Amino acid sequence: MSGFFSKKETQSKSRPDGKVLSCAACGLYKNAKSPRMEPFGNFRKGILNIGEAPGEQEDRRGKPWQGKTGRLLQKTYEELGIDLFEDCLNINAVNCRPENNRTPTNNEINCCRSTMVSKVLNKYQPKVIVLLGNAALQSFIGYRWIGTLGGIMKWRGWEIPDQEQRCWVIPTFHPSYVERSEREAMTIWKQDLQKAILKADTPFLRVLHPSIQYIKDLSVLDSLHGNASVIAFDYETTGLKPQAPGHKIICASVAVDEKRVYTFMMPKTKSGSQPFVDLLTDPVISKMAHNIKFEDNWTKKRLREDVQNWTWDSMQAAHILDNRQGVTGLKFQTYVNFGVMDYASEVTPYLKATSGDEKLYGGNAINRIQELLDQPGGEEKVLKYCALDSFYERMLAMKQIKELDYDFLPF
Ligand code: URA
Repeated sequence: MSGFFSKKETQSKSRPDGKVLSCAACGLYKNAKSPRMEPFGNFRKGILNIGEAPGEQEDRRGKPWQGKTGRLLQKTYEELGIDLFEDCLNINAVNCRPENNRTPTNNEINCCRSTMVSKVLNKYQPKVIVLLGNAALQSFIGYRWIGTLGGIMKWRGWEIPDQEQRCWVIPTFHPSYVERSEREAMTIWKQDLQKAILKADTPFLRVLHPSIQYIKDLSVLDSLHGNASVIAFDYETTGLKPQAPGHKIICASVAVDEKRVYTFMMPKTKSGSQPFVDLLTDPVISKMAHNIKFEDNWTKKRLREDVQNWTWDSMQAAHILDNRQGVTGLKFQTYVNFGVMDYASEVTPYLKATSGDEKLYGGNAINRIQELLDQPGGEEKVLKYCALDSFYERMLAMKQIKELDYDFLPF
């Protein structure tokens, strides 16, 4: 290629499938009047708005947010005391106008992130990023998200302390959606933008890594009696249903405070697992889990004991706090509350049964965890994953308790 871009620019990062994420691979620059539109705004308050793509007016004038939709964003920010072009920086998920204002494809968004958006993020280090609509969501979160991303309806309204970018992230509607919707959309949108403005003056929330104690002798847990007031615990198991033949608890973890989490393979003998069972049956220590039903059932069936003093189910509480579909999973909750993404991708594929086994045995199928345990380093991966689950469960539960004003709880 010659002319507008250097070879380096047109051949940036490659994908796992070997294809290149570049301007040349996207091609939208060919028909744009203002290709590769530069970010625009004086950024006085450290807020970065990511839109979808330039429209006709933007393309003509070489700046984002110049048309009717842009005026709505400008006016709404103004009502909240913010000048769109003085206080913010503005960029789009795709920075060349797609023909006829069509929605950009994920490939175009990924190419533009790689060649432009990520560079802008690194250069400006915003305090707050406002993701306006689905294209922005795909640009900033989609490419890192394992599993189903869902749309902006599921993501809007969270105030995410993204640990990788080290800034607050506020997903919300695109202004064109607000334009064509009922009045309620505007009310919600304005509230989201208000949150973003407040976050510009809120110190970033750094989330500390836990101190993970890999233990073999469970008698270490004995010291928790009389000392720990509330623990979260979590199992990794061979499947979903403890009563089905051949199933077992592989390992467990116990998060005991803001830092410490114990993780261990489940001992094969009754005496080996006794210190753990003693902890679960201690009537004074409060217990938490993410979906209590699961840990409760497995404890009953496989350790033959009843957990005493269940106090908090972070999955139920997540639903009470926000009843949208698809938001109660621990991985989603961990990201939207603590900005920690993808601590699980190495392990989660092994927590599913093969599709053949699933067809044959349904919910009783045995998953692939043994395959992972048989690999070098596999056991440590499983133990670490299990530890992080209970660590984030406990953190999440504590945050929910504050949000729901359950101060009467004894911790
Ligand atoms: N819509 C966008 O998403 N971005 C703009 O810059 C203009 C309209």
